[in-house]
This record gives sequence, structure tokens and C-alpha cells, in this order.
Amino acid sequence: MHIAVVSLGAFGHVNPTLSFVTELVKRNVRVTYFTTESFREIIEATGADFVPVKSWMAENDDHNAKKDGKKDGAKEESVAASVPYLFLNEAGSYIDDILRVLVEDHPDAIIHDFAGIAGTIAADVLRVPNIMLYTSYPSNDSYSVAESFEGIPADHPLRIAADEIAEGFVKKYGCRKMTFKEIFDGQGDLNIVMLQKRFVPNGESFDDRFVFTGVQIGKRTAFGSWEAPDNGRPLLYSSLGTAFNNWPEYYPILFDAVRDLDINVFAALGSVDPDSLENIPANVEVGQMVPQLDILSQASVFITHAGMGGTGEAIYYGVPMIAIPQMDEQAITAKLIEKKGLGFAFLDKKGITSSSLKEAIEKLIHDPSYRNTAQEFSGDMKKLGGAKASADAIMGFLQNGRLIV
Ligand code: UDP
Repeated sequence: MHIAVVSLGAFGHVNPTLSFVTELVKRNVRVTYFTTESFREIIEATGADFVPVKSWMAENDDHNAKKDGKKDGAKEESVAASVPYLFLNEAGSYIDDILRVLVEDHPDAIIHDFAGIAGTIAADVLRVPNIMLYTSYPSNDSYSVAESFEGIPADHPLRIAADEIAEGFVKKYGCRKMTFKEIFDGQGDLNIVMLQKRFVPNGESFDDRFVFTGVQIGKRTAFGSWEAPDNGRPLLYSSLGTAFNNWPEYYPILFDAVRDLDINVFAALGSVDPDSLENIPANVEVGQMVPQLDILSQASVFITHAGMGGTGEAIYYGVPMIAIPQMDEQAITAKLIEKKGLGFAFLDKKGITSSSLKEAIEKLIHDPSYRNTAQEFSGDMKKLGGAKASADAIMGFLQNGRLIV
């Protein structure tokens, strides 16, 4: 069996695929994996055949470029409008590379997530099953992710540009039209959801075309390993993820919040230069990109931007969270974290002070109810089976030769 995987070149999209690809390879599936060159090493470690693709985003988009910080309505609208525009452009730069390989070496299915639009196009062109991964919230008749994008005015220049690109794909490849609705609410022939139902809006309303396999934890080769200091103190781990993490003003607030606490702290800085930080307390260690799973497995509290990957990983390890979202999707997740009793949400990051952060940290360390809830969610998540369950669902679906419609 030969399966192609198409992924956006970003940790939040590549990481969730690593362990089930490893699992598929173990089951003698040949996997051809298309993403950007910087992920070669970690993809090759899974046993998949890595094929690099050209990236529009690498040259034209930098989430971490310092913005002017203004948050007016028009600007927010542009941020939302830029997401589908960016995914469509990225698809345009991948698709010919993908088809060049797969027309010669036909796959039995193509796996991708909502951002891997080139995967949908290739599946349409090659007439093979389209297996959708949900690294974020799935949509159905009762919950629509696309809705938040549909509010962008029809005459918004990025919406018009996105529509032109999607129309161009229809003409050139004869594929379906990748409208906002199709991008964010479009379903695969099989849908693998890497979350648990109780952490998905209207989770119980999804039918059996959606297989909930939970977060896919596995051995990772990037960023080495890490062990907490052996001093019996609780560990606080802080990370704002890989995509929207350029917020240097946060670190003095964090440092003042934890300076006098009897805890160990590890702060993953992402794009913030460690040398730019002053007065780092003695109980704080910093790194830029760090082995997050190792750290979370030892942590008592996680300060997070509430990215889907990190949130699922913290739930897996039963770690309560303090959520400080950096963009809209993360705000939905941050609210859910608080609502479900998994921790606290600071929805307005500009309002955070050292004392409010310190109070939240102390509460999560000393009030066992948050840890208990996180452990309960963890048990539920682990039962879903992760990578093995995803591989079972994919193999079962393909071996039965059944397209679910
Ligand atoms: N990650 C990591 N080391 C870091 C920061 C992040 O390994 O220093 C991983 C993290 O475990 C997760 C992914 O990168 O799997 C980030 O995905 P997420 O959805 O949490 O956030 P994003 O970076 O996409 O905003």
C-alpha cells in the first residue's frame, strides 16, 4: 500500500502526523511525505520517503514579524482573510511538485489537514480517497469553522484574490473549488480527529465518518531531551508555540511572577532572542525551541498560547494550563480550557500583570481540582488510542475499499 501525506511546513501541522506515519510504516505501508525542506530530518526519522516542495509561505509570510500591535476591526478582518489566501498560495506552490511524483507513483490515498489544500486537489486529480486530519476543530451541520471566515466582506481584496486562485485551480486541475466553506468545513472520505469529543464544540454530534483518535504522542527526534532539576519542586513550563510567539514584553512579566516562587520554570522563547532578556531569575531556565513532550511529561503547570497541539499534549500529560491566546482560534481554545476546569484564560494579553499571573500559577499548583480535572481528561484522551488508532482507522478504511459518503 502507498499513502501520500501532504502537510503545511509548520510544527503545528507536521508534529501531529509523525507518530501515525511511523505506525503506518511499521505496518509495511509506503508513505511519501510532501512538505518543506526544513522538516526533512524529522520526516525521514519516521521511515517515510520525504519529498521537499517549494513554499510560498516561507518567502511571503512571517507570523512572527513584529506587528504594530493595533487591534482594530479592519486589521482583525485582514488577519482572518489572510489565512485562506495564504493556504491557497501555499497549495499553488506545492501542487505541481506533488502531482509530478504521484502521477508516476500512484498512491492509494492522500492524507492532509485543512491547511494542506494541495492534498485535496491532488486527491481530486488522481481520484483517490481524501483522508482529512483534524489538528483543529472539525465542522458539521451543527458547528462551522468556516463561519468565522464567512464574515469577511465579499469585496475584501484578499477574499477576491483567494477566490481567483481557487478558480484558477478548478480551471487548471479540474478539482473542486476551494471556497472558504470547502477549506474550513470540507470533509474527507475519512476524517481523523486528533482531539477528544469532550474538548470539541458539539463533540457528540459528529457521526462515524469522524474517528476521534486524540493527540498523537510519540518519540520525537527534534530538540534533544530534557530533565527537570532534581530538587523536588514543581515545574512550570511556558511556551507560546512556534507561529505567533514574538512577544518579548511577556518575559519580564513572567519573570517577576515566578521570581519568589518555590518552583522550577522552563520558558521556551521561540523567536525571542535569549540574549535580549534581562534579570532572568535563578529558578528560570530558557531555551528557544525545546523538547516539549519531555518537559510537559514532568510539568505541573503549562502557560500556553492555547495552540491545538500544545493543548492536546498538556491534556495527554494531565497538566493544568494558563492560556494566553495570541490569535482567534487560540481564544476559542483558551475559553474551553477555562470552561472545562482545566485552568485559566487570560483573553486580553495586554491586561496581564505579574501579580495576576502569579496568583493563577499558585492556584493551579495548590488547588488540586485543576490537576484532577486534567488527569481525568488525560485518561479519556489516552483511551482514544492516538497514533495506533489513527493507523487502524486508515488501514481499515482503505482495506475495506469503502468510500464513506
Ligand atoms: N513545540 C516544540 N518545542 C517548542 C515549541 C513547540 O516541540 O519549543 C511543538 C509542540 O509540542 C507542538 C507544536 O510544536 O507539537 C506547536 O503546535 P501548537 O499547535 O501548540 O502551536 P503553534 O506553534 O502551531 O501555534
